[in-house]
Parts: sequence; C-alpha cells; structure tokens
Amino acid sequence: MPTFDVQQFRQQFAFFQQQPEWVYLDNAATMHKPQAVIDAVTQFYQQYNSNVHRGAHQLSQRATTLFEQARSTVASYINAQHLHEIIFCSGATAALNQIAFGLMHTVLRPGDRILLTQLEHHANIVPWQLHCQRFGVIIDVVPLTPDHQLDMAAYQQLLQLKPKVVSFSHISNVLGHIQPVADMVTLAKAVGAITVIDGAQGIVYQQPDMQQLDCDFYVFSGHKLYGPTGIGVLYGKTEQLARLTPIFAGGEMIDSVSFINTTFNKLPFRLEAGTPNIAGAIGLSAAIEWLQKYNNQQIVQHKSLLLKEFYTGLTAIKAIDILSSSVHNAGIVALNVDSEHPADVAELLNQQQIAVRSGQHCAMPLFSYLARPGAIRCSFAAYNTLDDVNRCLLALEQAVEILT
Ligand code: PLP
Repeated sequence: MPTFDVQQFRQQFAFFQQQPEWVYLDNAATMHKPQAVIDAVTQFYQQYNSNVHRGAHQLSQRATTLFEQARSTVASYINAQHLHEIIFCSGATAALNQIAFGLMHTVLRPGDRILLTQLEHHANIVPWQLHCQRFGVIIDVVPLTPDHQLDMAAYQQLLQLKPKVVSFSHISNVLGHIQPVADMVTLAKAVGAITVIDGAQGIVYQQPDMQQLDCDFYVFSGHKLYGPTGIGVLYGKTEQLARLTPIFAGGEMIDSVSFINTTFNKLPFRLEAGTPNIAGAIGLSAAIEWLQKYNNQQIVQHKSLLLKEFYTGLTAIKAIDILSSSVHNAGIVALNVDSEHPADVAELLNQQQIAVRSGQHCAMPLFSYLARPGAIRCSFAAYNTLDDVNRCLLALEQAVEILT
C-alpha cells in the first residue's frame, strides 16, 4: 500500500501554513479545518444565506437543497439505511442529552437499569444521571482491567442485570483505547438492551457502518471530524428515534399547532426544532467529502507510526507515567510527569508552542478510578508529523529536567 503523503494533507490547512511553528496535539478536543470546509461555509454565507424549508424564494430553496444534501452525505458516510435517521444537532453532547431525555420519558420505568462504563466522557454520564433519580432508574458501571481496557467479563456479568439501555464510547477521549463496540452491541442486544454509542472520538478514527454495527444510536460532533463547531449528528434507527420525546419544541418540529393540541412533524424534523445550523451542516458535509479523497487505511497506518514513535520516545524518558496502553489505541496518550501537576507540564509545553490539554478531560470518574489528579493528553491527527512527535518528546524531556 502506498504511504500517506502527510505534507500534501497538511497543506490543506491554512493554520499550518500560517503558523508552522505550532505543534498541535489537542486534536481530541477539536481538529483544525481544511480549506475545503472554510470555503464551503464562506460560500454559503456569501452566496446563499437564507433559512431552510420555509422560504418562498430561490435562495431558501438553494439553502434547503444544500442542507438536505448534507444530510445525505452524512447518511451515506455512516451507511444509515434512511436519510431521516440523521438528526442534525449541535454536537455529541446535545445528541446524548436528547437520547437520555427522550428515553426517560418513554421507555425507562422506575427500577430499570442503564449500563455505562468507567471511562465515559461527562456527556455520556450526566445526561443520564440528571434524570435517573427523578425516574427511579439505576446506573451500573463497567470497570476497567489493570491495563485500563474495558473489562469485558464484567460487562457480560452486568448485562445479566438486563439493562434497558447500554451506552458507551467508541474510543476513550482520555486514554485513546478503542472499545470492541461490535461485540459490545451484539452482547447488549442479546439481552434486549437499546444500544447507544458515543462516537465523538470514534468518527475520526474509522468510518462507522450503521447497518453493519447495528447499534440503535450513534452520535458525534462535526468539529472532531475536520468540520465546524456547533454541528453534530444524532443517528438513530427509525423505530428508536420514533420513541424519543423531543427535548426541544418549537418551529419546524410540528405539523399543526393550536392551543388545544399540537401534532408533530415526521422524522427527522420532529427532532430538529428551530432554525438549524445550516452553514455547519454544509461545512460538515464538505469535511466528509474532502476526507473521502484520502485512504483511511493509510491515515490509520500513519497515525499508528506516530504513536509507536511517541511511545518509544516516552519510555526512554525517566519519570513519565503513561496511563494509556499502546495497544488498541487510536492515537491519544494520557500521561504525567511523576506526580507533577499536569497544568505545569502543559504550560511548559505551551511555552514551546506545543498544544496539549491538561486536567481531567471531562472524565472525572475515570480519574478517580485511576487515582490520578489528572493528566496531560497528547492526541494525534493525520496532519501531525514525526517532527511533531520529536518536538513533543524533547519538550517533555526538558519539562522533566525542570520539574523533577
Ligand atoms: N464524548 C466524547 C468521548 C468526547 O470526547 C466529547 C468531546 O470531547 C464529547 C462526548 C462531547 O462532544 P461535544 O463537546 O462536541 O458535544
């Protein structure tokens, strides 16, 4: 297989052309945007700006066409069976809130159980928790193995409690570990659970196939897939989306309204109240179309090479405490320098224009479990180079010198 041309890929990003001094390793937080995305969003605002679905003029019709084409691009990218199974929302957080709220009102009853995992992002914990107490629903949590992978034996045991919903991330945003999601869905379905996958990190690693994966819901944010912020996707099977009580109500999601009664629009509009993020959807579609010009297998190989080099370098530096495993890792590494505060390490890297994130990464229960106050997180994207890896390693070596 020919190798991935990282320089050609990198050239698509104005950020790296204009600020080549930066080593950007905060990709799990958000990715940079290629010119194709910036152009699509700008073009929309310059040439077609108008609202969708309700205008009587050509501009609105054009905006509607582009918006609905974006839905179609997303649907075919993740191989959804129907266009109306793609609900546009503001991001993974909004999507998970809609699912938790929607199912609490219709499906879940007092005494029912929900199964989550120890390494979830707060966006896949708090929306459930917010309603559990009120609805009398119980949360169970799958623990991790000593190497911080999901404990599949414990998962199978907890499934015996017959949870109504099982919700888990495709890839941990802290550790980078890739969960065996296909097996997890199969096992959960065997006990009749509704399956929810938080694909916020998974979507950029792999093009997920909804019909093959057969999960009930899969959610992600556009900004972690080279797209704009403020746009995301809630994918759901038709019959499951139909069970969701809408979290937002207003224009667009209704069929008819009177002070006596309101009837609702069909999917996807029933779950898309108000003016959507039109430019965001168009930008996300541009991101997907642009990304599809590249071979994902080559990208995965490139990222695993970066990861391998990074691990080799890290293990040679004394005082580095690596929390992520190098196996089943999508390119995210959480680490500490001895017991130094991660914010201090991140600041020393920042002084050398190396962008990482420090703290608990919206995963406090994971850090309690790991018994660490936090970590710095280096997350790699396809536009990162071996030079980025080496600069980060050198800066970490210097941080160790300074701090220990
Ligand atoms: N889930 C995971 C695993 C994430 O990494 C993130 C963001 O970092 C989210 C959910 C929330 O995504 P957003 O803030 O884009 O809604």
